[in-house]
Amino acid sequence: MEENKNLGLYIHIPFCVEKCLYCDFVSYKVSDAEKHKSIETYIKALKEEISFYKDELGRAHIKTIFIGGGTPSSIEGRYILEIVNHLKQFNPLTALEEFTIEVNPGTLNEEKINAYLSAGINRVSMGVQSSRDSLLKSIGRIHTFNEFLTTYHGIREKGFRNINLDMMFGLPGQTLEDVLHTVKILADLMPEHISAYSLKIEEGTPMYRLYESGALVLPDEATERDMYRVICKELETRGYHQYEISNFAKEGLESRHNLTYWRNEPYLGFGVAAHSKMDSVRFNNYSNMMAYTSAIEKGNKPVEEEIQIDESEDLFETIILGLRLNEGLEIEAINAAYNMDFLSMYQEAISRLEEQGLIVMSEGRNRMSLTDRGRDLSNQVFLAFMA
Ligand code: SF4
Repeated sequence: MEENKNLGLYIHIPFCVEKCLYCDFVSYKVSDAEKHKSIETYIKALKEEISFYKDELGRAHIKTIFIGGGTPSSIEGRYILEIVNHLKQFNPLTALEEFTIEVNPGTLNEEKINAYLSAGINRVSMGVQSSRDSLLKSIGRIHTFNEFLTTYHGIREKGFRNINLDMMFGLPGQTLEDVLHTVKILADLMPEHISAYSLKIEEGTPMYRLYESGALVLPDEATERDMYRVICKELETRGYHQYEISNFAKEGLESRHNLTYWRNEPYLGFGVAAHSKMDSVRFNNYSNMMAYTSAIEKGNKPVEEEIQIDESEDLFETIILGLRLNEGLEIEAINAAYNMDFLSMYQEAISRLEEQGLIVMSEGRNRMSLTDRGRDLSNQVFLAFMA
């Protein structure tokens, strides 16, 4: 790794109180993990994994840390503090601009919040998903909307000034009115950031089986798109600017960590199933807990797969990730990074996409971004830039 490179860190905590019906993330039931003492084993392995990267960490400007999961707030706060203190042996974290932890309603207490504050965490991201308890229950969430409200106000009272709330649309049985109710009530709370994700039915989940059996009634595609538009419109009128397909923020409070991914900048992930990208190499850890911990016990990095990315692949990633952002792509920056003439190389594709109203060129053709229609048909746009 080059000297003093900016770096984002991701730390995966793979435990949840219960498994949500739609979730295909790597996570284990926290009560089982407590019973088998596997939280201690995991935290020990995680710290050893961090030590393997002491040189890279020592040289980096760590700009952001994101502790995600799973539900990081399902384990005791002292574990989070332990991980952060361990990390500080290798990097003073003085360049840190944003430090986020994911939490879920109903899983926080005084000990955890105090530990987060001591660790220097300055941003909380919470999954709310819907304001309707019946919908929350139908997707297997463990909390009610009132429990979310209690947690939200508790975090605010403790002094957190940067909060993200996640909501979902396209849920089984959800109506346009449900979505509007949720987005309005969340905006009333004035969080700094709101993310809105469409439900994806992932293979292997209980929800997939329900879907396959025909027991699940999902909103049709047109309604789902209407839900998305309703969210975008409502949030815009409430002073949230949309800066990415699914993300809305008050001015200057965009997620710096997620911008690392979308700007195709280097990041290092720790923990089971974590992904990393540094120096044109993309690598991911074992997604099986046993394989992850035993690799570390044997003194090896728990990397399952490592892929060298060639320049054309890296360029394609930069294009599709950058187009997710409303700011789009800065052509001069791409020309400089890849030593190319982007407009000449993609002249035909750009003209066609402009004619179709899918992209717009601005700032003297130095910036390319998706139109609203382009956002709806983003896959079509991305395909046009495949080498
Ligand atoms: S809380 Fe999040 S990570 Fe855990 S099961 Fe639900 S969706 Fe998955």
